[in-house]
Amino acid sequence: MPELPEVQALAERMATACAGRVLERVDVLSIPALKTFDPPVQALTGRAVDAVTRHGKFLDLATDGGPHLVVHLARAGWVHPRASFPAKPPSRRGPLALRLVLDDGSGFDLTEQGTTKRLAAYVVTDPGQVPGIARLGVDALAATPEQLTALAAGARQRLKTFLTDQSVLAGIGNAYSDEILHTARLSPYALAASLDAGRLARLHAAIGRELGGALEQLRAVPIEGLKSEKKADLAVHGRAGEPCPVCGDTVRSVNFADSSLQYCPTCQTGGRVLADRRLSRLLK
Ligand SMILES: [Zn+2]
Repeated sequence: MPELPEVQALAERMATACAGRVLERVDVLSIPALKTFDPPVQALTGRAVDAVTRHGKFLDLATDGGPHLVVHLARAGWVHPRASFPAKPPSRRGPLALRLVLDDGSGFDLTEQGTTKRLAAYVVTDPGQVPGIARLGVDALAATPEQLTALAAGARQRLKTFLTDQSVLAGIGNAYSDEILHTARLSPYALAASLDAGRLARLHAAIGRELGGALEQLRAVPIEGLKSEKKADLAVHGRAGEPCPVCGDTVRSVNFADSSLQYCPTCQTGGRVLADRRLSRLLK
């Protein structure tokens, strides 16, 4: 799933490509992806693109004097820049969800792989009208040490849940939460409210280092290379069975909630192997 660094890098690339351009056409190829009907999609067309920004993991394309097009790429969505488009209208079958055509003939295809379609697009007069944006907590990259301390003190969550809860900290998903906890040398199962000042300082530094570092690297990569660059850069996420790059211990995977997480026992849990906390198991 694209997280804060990738979505920020995508927004910056789109902003550059759209500078001074008019949105000539927006094709909605996946009808279920469009979550709003008023204003209509057509209200976007013929308008200059004002800015492309990010809120949490949402992309926000603002038009001059018109509505915003807000997109959440979900787990398998992506943005592909196109220099031009074929004259033939695209098929409604396939991964293409939305097509944005600019007045110079270039633009973007927004696609979603897989059978579970979660990519969501909204046409709104204010991005705050998107429920997922209205709920967002503090932007993870902008959170100050004081904000993080206050959020942790008020949370009754384990660190893995705390970091990925968009209403607490916006922008962190499954991959970067694993990386942040590994860098901070903290157990994903530790309770957020139990962290002392030293651990909170480590967590804050790790958030900045992981997200900021990833963003710096991704800014140097073309859009099509962002996903492979992210993968190559991960120390523990998706690397179960491989040696930890810090200590050489074997990276472990454990089921947690409705997903799995990866961690290094030596770096993060005092050598202890974590027990399964899958939601389905707990419900039995
Ligand atoms: Zn390690």
